Amino acid sequence: MSSSTAPPRSVAPDSTIRGLVLRGIAASPGVTVGTALVLGDAKNAFRRKHIHLSRTEDEVKRLYEAVELARAQIVQVSESMQQTAGHEPAAILDAYVAMLTDPLLMARVEAKIRKDLMCAEWAVVASSDEILTLFARKANSPQADTYLLERRHDIEFVSDRLVRALTGHSDRRLENFTVPTVVIARDLSPADTAGMAKEPVLAFVTEIGTKTSHTAIMARALELPAVVGLNDALAMIRTGDTVIVDGLRGEVIVNPNDIAIEEALARSARHMAFSRDLLSSRNERAVTRCGVPVSLKANIELPAEAVLALDHGAEGIGLYRTEFIYIDRTAMPTEDEQYELYKSVVETMAPRPVTLRTFDIGGDKFVSTFQLPSEMNPALGLRAVRLALRRPDVFLTQLRAMVRASAHGDVRIMIPMIASLGELRDVRTLIARAQAEVDLAGHARAPHIPVGIMIEVPAAVMLADVFAQHADFFSVGTNDLVQYTLAVDRTNQSLAPLATAFHPAIIRMLALVQAAAEKHSRPVSLCGAMASDPIAALLLVGLGFRELSMESAAVPEIKAALSRFSVDECREVAGLALACDETSDIEEVLAVGFAVRIHDILTGASGERTFV
Ligand code: PEP
Ligand code: MG
Repeated sequence: MSSSTAPPRSVAPDSTIRGLVLRGIAASPGVTVGTALVLGDAKNAFRRKHIHLSRTEDEVKRLYEAVELARAQIVQVSESMQQTAGHEPAAILDAYVAMLTDPLLMARVEAKIRKDLMCAEWAVVASSDEILTLFARKANSPQADTYLLERRHDIEFVSDRLVRALTGHSDRRLENFTVPTVVIARDLSPADTAGMAKEPVLAFVTEIGTKTSHTAIMARALELPAVVGLNDALAMIRTGDTVIVDGLRGEVIVNPNDIAIEEALARSARHMAFSRDLLSSRNERAVTRCGVPVSLKANIELPAEAVLALDHGAEGIGLYRTEFIYIDRTAMPTEDEQYELYKSVVETMAPRPVTLRTFDIGGDKFVSTFQLPSEMNPALGLRAVRLALRRPDVFLTQLRAMVRASAHGDVRIMIPMIASLGELRDVRTLIARAQAEVDLAGHARAPHIPVGIMIEVPAAVMLADVFAQHADFFSVGTNDLVQYTLAVDRTNQSLAPLATAFHPAIIRMLALVQAAAEKHSRPVSLCGAMASDPIAALLLVGLGFRELSMESAAVPEIKAALSRFSVDECREVAGLALACDETSDIEEVLAVGFAVRIHDILTGASGERTFV
């Protein structure tokens, strides 16, 4: 149910009716139907041969010529992307240039040429395979690390580029495309993805990658629907197959029946209509049918997403998950570096508010820069604010950067995983210190920065009345609140059906938090994945919420759903739901009360209805 929970990747149970339904990760929104083109793998497109001892120097020379060629190709793509897709995707490519001469890789490759007398292509592939095996062992451990997963991806990319340079394979795998095509590949490099903007490519599907992988970032920047992390893609899809790619739901249907195609085309048309509507209505506020405004903000993980948030009509950033700055790197981000990132988001969004959440690292968000201890139960361990308070040096660096960013717009600071008042007090003390240090250094800042807390631990719900007197605002994190209240690991796919926000315990907690906030006139938002579900959003309005934060792509749908109900109607359904003792009864109440009147939105945006 949560956007950060790993989605199922197996063949879905409804496969036989609609076609072969495969599930992966929704990486970039949009729905399309097209013909599959399965791309091969450069890794296997050469002959593995031994060289003669007398030829080793020539072979090493050939290797370094290939390094130069690959470098020149990447630099060229990077420069053209700087103009088309902006700085961030281009910066990723720049990192690959450096990696091309990484001693970890190159020393191995050279040794294989000189000692094992392998041809250069073979040496590159064998070396990268060895490194990938080392990474895989670590990445398959229970502490699987996004950083490691991404590094594996990077090594694969660089070795692929080198092999292409050595074999003379085309730099652009896509140049022979003549008809609109859905590209299916084990992986696509950022350069390949960028190249798609100019080709008749409708969408793409890859076997590896996550929502935060570089390829997914690029796809969103280029607005191409994409599903990544679909394990069985190459085994299940053949060139020439008709495929539906649903980048909203993370679903691919192979050889769909007519009904599935019709439905996908309708959903695609609605999605595009929503997008078009944005051009005219994105500056209009989201209001209920009776005219009550509901502030819809966006959750972002990367600064570049701020533009997407604006494009989708978000009224601000309700959650900036800053922990992503710490991922994918070997050294801690500096104060200046963070300041520049926060400032860019704040300036892009100004005068709209930006809620910067301090790093939520630990649990399932493992970051190698922190050298976290291995824990039996990481979700219950050194995570988020607990880690921040143990590492005041790192925390203060982030706080100073946030405080400085406040000089450029409406900045709010939000603290994750608060469970006791002492933690909030300690954080406030550090924020005061950060402000003093910023003043001392002569930097500008806003005179007052609201400090709020995430309500995502049951203890915070029970103490909401107390916290409301000490925090400037609340934002409910239902992804974790569900995990901790229902004792269901948010990363455990087999327990996913139990992790529902429509559990009676959860909706009663939401009512409690809202009441506490209202009593003390504190703004309260909800930024868990629940907010991006149209039915849940209506329920939340009925429970009294007037601010929701969600993935940018969900903003138009939620706006449309809200416009069809009055607050009184939402309140009535919420009252019925609150009186239920079982999830199934609540779902029934919501289906009758809400679903029937927004059926087009539900099916247009996410296919068959699945409750969060
Ligand atoms: C949540 O827990 O609901 C939330 C928004 O935070 P995250 O998903 O980043 O833990
Ligand atoms: Mg959380």
